[in-house]
Amino acid sequence: NAIFATKADAIRVRVAVRLRPKNKEDFTDDGDFTSCVELQTETKKLRLKKNNWSSEMYKFDEVFTEGSSQRRIYEAVAKPVVEASQFLSVLEGYNGTVMAYGQTGTGKTYTMGHLGKNDPSERGIMVRALEDILASVSPSTDSVAISYLQLYLESLQDLLALDKTNIPIVEDAKTGEVSLPGAAVVELRDVSHFNELLHFGEANRYASNTKLNTESSRSHAILVVQVHRSVKVKDENDGTSVATSTDDISNSNHVPIVLKSKLLIVDLAGSERIDKSGSVEGHLLEEAKCINLSLTSLGKCINALAENSPYIPTRDSKLTRILRDSFGGTARTSLIITIGPSVRYYSETSSTIMFGQRAM
Ligand code: ADP
Ligand code: MG
Repeated sequence: NAIFATKADAIRVRVAVRLRPKNKEDFTDDGDFTSCVELQTETKKLRLKKNNWSSEMYKFDEVFTEGSSQRRIYEAVAKPVVEASQFLSVLEGYNGTVMAYGQTGTGKTYTMGHLGKNDPSERGIMVRALEDILASVSPSTDSVAISYLQLYLESLQDLLALDKTNIPIVEDAKTGEVSLPGAAVVELRDVSHFNELLHFGEANRYASNTKLNTESSRSHAILVVQVHRSVKVKDENDGTSVATSTDDISNSNHVPIVLKSKLLIVDLAGSERIDKSGSVEGHLLEEAKCINLSLTSLGKCINALAENSPYIPTRDSKLTRILRDSFGGTARTSLIITIGPSVRYYSETSSTIMFGQRAM
């Protein structure tokens, strides 16, 4: 019942690719649709076809077709971060991160934030993770609290309390723990309480973006889940195992401790390059620069993680500073890259795939 996995096991980033079903934007004005993506689910490979003569194969930890269910994606990608017992997980006191990266319109918000109000089978990763966490903790001794924020133009805004903008990111010099002083931290009563907050936060994200005259796809949405659990641990020499239900916890060598952990679920800004023609100016240029900066710096950090580098360069952007204590070390990280099927977006799809490949 050891709760420590090996370091290498903890550091590696799990990367999944998800293909969304085709939609009308995938067709040309003449009504033509040409796919540039072929998935091989058994071998977990993806073929990206530039044209009839040229294609490349890429391997991932998981590949999800346009028919894959929200439940499968949660179970394969997020559940290992939340509660897998053979690994370091959030419910065992370790931090973790689940992120979605991809071009706008490829299904990041659908994958992460869908509430599934009309059709519960559509519930996304945020809702499913909180369902699992709330079902696993003991209401009398444990607590689960959330913050929900948006990072736009390197300014961190609270989506649960709209008057709060420019929230600082503070790192404890001793523990390395990252905190966001001033951000609302709401202790959850139950799953429906969480659904209300998520709905409220989404509406605020939409409203604040309308006010700023931008698209919500130009900001990162960050859900922070803080879990505090009281558990009894065996006070043995290695001091590392959580008591199981079969252990006699009234035994005097079991000591109570509080496990504190944090899960970040991040719906990243669209990865597409806005400035293709070089004609973008002012506000939009500023936006593009900020998104570029944060996604590039995220890419560098994920690269460093994948290479087991002892130094993860998190200082370069606010996004990576927020993530600092929730990936690397003993924290587990899953990355879902989302793509569309059409050759119309070949170059964006290719660059998304390269981002995912560099994380492996
Ligand atoms: P993004 O957040 O990456 O910009 P969205 O999640 O908003 O993209 O998805 C764009 C559209 O495609 C939405 O209407 C969404 O419901 C739909 N969509 C995306 N992925 C899927 C999927 N796997 N199955 C069904 N619909 C999807
Ligand atoms: Mg979105």
